[in-house]
Amino acid sequence: IHQAVLARSTATHPDAVALVDGTDPSGATSLTYGQLDVWHRRLAASLAAAGVRKGDVVALHSPNSLLYPVVFYGASRAGAAVTTVHPLCTAEEFAKQLADSSARWIVTVAPLLETARRAAELVGCIEEIFVCDRAEGHRSVLHDLLTRGDAPEPDVVIDPAEDIAVLPYSSGTTGVPKGVMLTHRNIATNLAQLHPLVPMVPGERILAVLPFFHIYGMTALMNAPLRSGATVVVLPRFDLDQFLGAIEKHRITGLYVAPPIVLALAKHPAVARYDLSSLEYVVSAAAPLDSRLAAACSARLKLPPVRQGYGMTELSPGTHTVPLSTPNPPPGAVGKLLPSTEMRILRLDDPARDAGPGEEGEVAVRGPQVMKGYLGRPEATADMIDADGWVHTGDVGHVDDDGWLYVVDRVKELIKYKGFQVAPADLEALLLTHPAVADAAVIGVYDADGNEVPKAFVVRQPTAPDLGADELMAYVAERVAPYKKVRRLEFIESVPRAASGKILRRELRQREKDRT
Ligand code: ATP
Ligand code: MG
Repeated sequence: IHQAVLARSTATHPDAVALVDGTDPSGATSLTYGQLDVWHRRLAASLAAAGVRKGDVVALHSPNSLLYPVVFYGASRAGAAVTTVHPLCTAEEFAKQLADSSARWIVTVAPLLETARRAAELVGCIEEIFVCDRAEGHRSVLHDLLTRGDAPEPDVVIDPAEDIAVLPYSSGTTGVPKGVMLTHRNIATNLAQLHPLVPMVPGERILAVLPFFHIYGMTALMNAPLRSGATVVVLPRFDLDQFLGAIEKHRITGLYVAPPIVLALAKHPAVARYDLSSLEYVVSAAAPLDSRLAAACSARLKLPPVRQGYGMTELSPGTHTVPLSTPNPPPGAVGKLLPSTEMRILRLDDPARDAGPGEEGEVAVRGPQVMKGYLGRPEATADMIDADGWVHTGDVGHVDDDGWLYVVDRVKELIKYKGFQVAPADLEALLLTHPAVADAAVIGVYDADGNEVPKAFVVRQPTAPDLGADELMAYVAERVAPYKKVRRLEFIESVPRAASGKILRRELRQREKDRT
């Protein structure tokens, strides 16, 4: 993947700025493509000198930073597979991932070192913990980069079709996160499939606010920006003011975000305080985005329609995108199929058969970007990828006559109300159209007669503390067919979400269960 991504930009734009630290008020902390190239090679040499060999797994445990891509590509050049770790995980969660992935090396940062140490103790088979910055008693990545000079690079031959480049974990929205084996070819292919449809040019400035450890945020590193000589401004976490300030200060041209950030851009009062006029486009993926919300966001920012992409960790990560050549994609569409990829819509009541034209069903896809498999989980792999190579995504969608895909929700999240199916994402989107609603999540709960009914959890706008449940349920009832009515409603402080932006409905279900 270092060949597919970095080699090209380094050859054509060695002096262009690849990465900028978005937290540095002076804006001076940055890396050029030339430096990134030299540094990732040095790091490969340094990892090899420490004993990292081809096929080893290196755990990268860090918030977004300038050194993240150096380690990511350095480890890959040394022939290792990189397993990316949630920087806020507990030592126990980290240990689980270390054990599951058989990682033997950890690269962390000083503020997270204690968690990494405890995780290493729990698994007991870690060779060494490197620290990106500095910490007593540990090899410092930064120190090595600054002092190592040009140590010989490891002589590693990579088999792109077989060797694992990255081992990210799925978000764990529906259950335990699973280690996803993505080969060098998986990633390079997806890059080649996407690039012609959404070309990026040198001079574009992208804000990387989504976490690099998750496949969507990782695309800022291994997809179009770094391949095209664009500049990536890096933020370690989402803080609305810091995010808006960075757009203004760095004259950001493109945003890759998830629906909660689209929601903030559309509704939050703070947006008005910043000059966001450099923005040219916004891309959203990772969770359902309602077309009204998308329209509100682009109208407020005076931008072309928000473009979507669709994918999952298992798809390196994508199968659909809205091509840049379509100025006005149909509202709500997540995209068109990428080249050399196939799609079917399977009937929900009989997955062996295809749904009729335009009908809703489970989205199934096939193509060269499909993962090699889940690490150490042959049954889960077989559940996901059938004998003919079709990935059963678990998502409900439909396709229109022009080939645009619309994703409704996940099959498992559909609420069955008296034989009708209700998509929670639809009700969440409708609730958000109410001006006094700041955020919303919907799940199915059981009433006294054992019927599943939709229940909404709503966060009120701070300016509307008196908004009542009955009023809001009536608002929904006036706008949907009777079977879709929200029948329970509770106000909460915030909606639980995964780092990738997805609503954690299983946490809400658990809360309900604990209560009854
Ligand atoms: P797990 O598989 O561990 O339960 P997850 O499926 O949330 O977690 P990811 O691989 O991060 O893990 O997410 C993939 C899912 O994200 C897809 O299956 C789909 O439900 C959702 N998704 C991605 N893009 C879109 C989109 N544009 N619209 C709607 N949903 C999307
Ligand atoms: Mg999944």
